[in-house]
Amino acid sequence: MQLTEIGVKCHQCGIRFRSRQVPIILDRGRRNSELRLLGEAQHFEPYAVCTCPSCSHADWATAFRRTEEPAVLGQKNEPPHLQYRAAALNGERAGKSFYKIGQLYLYAAWCAEDVGALPQSREYRKLAIDSFVKALADGSCPNDKRGEIQYLIGELHRRAGDFGECLEYFEKVIPHLPGKFAMMARRLMRLAEQGETAPIDFIN
Ligand SMILES: [Zn+2]
Repeated sequence: MQLTEIGVKCHQCGIRFRSRQVPIILDRGRRNSELRLLGEAQHFEPYAVCTCPSCSHADWATAFRRTEEPAVLGQKNEPPHLQYRAAALNGERAGKSFYKIGQLYLYAAWCAEDVGALPQSREYRKLAIDSFVKALADGSCPNDKRGEIQYLIGELHRRAGDFGECLEYFEKVIPHLPGKFAMMARRLMRLAEQGETAPIDFIN
């Protein structure tokens, strides 16, 4: 992945540092069953998170504001899944919506899996499920995303290896899912019945 370095300012402690930035992501619509981008943008997630080298505040890289003033320090170099986890915990403390916290745990799960940290990725998936369930209940999930998030919760159960929960959940929500999500959910139920956790391509 081609990255550029820019100077940013931490909104928590005010220190300036250099941050790696992901170039424009080309979303050609290809995703896996967990709705993770495939294609040219595959695996951009480890580069979309940033941690301040001074106060260790973690957030999306784009949340740190660009500065033209000189910056010498580099961003903190921690495994991305730990940075996403820290960002999610910050978000919980700061009262961010459960929908946004769910996204951070989801990215944490993917980044953990990328480096073979499988127990952590399972834990993050469960935390993402928890946050998304709350987001559906409290209305913080945008209306046009409800079907997608309901589908995703079922798939996260399967990918976390909780096949019973996956099947039970999909049974309940499939009647309410938009067509393509309902179709995918039925395929995933068959995989769950076989005890299969690997992702598959999302077929539109
Ligand atoms: Zn800071």
